[in-house]
Amino acid sequence: MARKTGLDINSPKTECKDKKCPFHGDLTISKRVFTGVVVSDLAKNTATVLWERRRKISKYDRYERRKTRVHAHNPECINAKKKDVVRIAECRPLSKTKNFVIIEKLGKEEKVSGFEEKPEEKKEDSAKETDKKQGKTDTDKKDTAKKTKQKG
Ligand SMILES: [Zn+2]
Repeated sequence: MARKTGLDINSPKTECKDKKCPFHGDLTISKRVFTGVVVSDLAKNTATVLWERRRKISKYDRYERRKTRVHAHNPECINAKKKDVVRIAECRPLSKTKNFVIIEKLGKEEKVSGFEEKPEEKKEDSAKETDKKQGKTDTDKKDTAKKTKQKG
C-alpha cells in the first residue's frame, strides 16, 4: 500500500520499489508544492521541471515573467515524460542538485491552460532560493518586442 503523504493528492496506480519515492519509499515531502512542465527527462529518475512565476515591479506597476528551473526526482511509479505537467514537492536533498520530487502528473502541456497565468507571489521566496542555486534565468525580452504594431 502507498503511504499517505499528508497532501491532498492521489497516489499513483502503479507501485515501485524506489526508496526516494514519496508513496512507496521513505521520503518525506514538505508542503511547498509547485506546478511546472517537464522540459527534460533524459537523466535516469530525474526530470527537469520549469515553471513561470510573476514578479511585481512596483516602479512600473507591472509584472515581470521569470522562470524557475529545478531538477526533480521522477519515481518509477510516476514516470513523467517531457511536456508533462507535473506537481512537485520540496524534499530533502536527494543529490547535489535535486531537492524536489514529482508527486503527481496533471496532464500534457497542451491540454492544461492557465497554469502559468496565476500570480504566485506567495511562492516568491522559495523561487528566489532556487534561482540562486540554479543560476538566474533571464527573462525573454524578445517577447516584448513582438508587440503587434498599431495601424492607422
Ligand atoms: Zn512509487
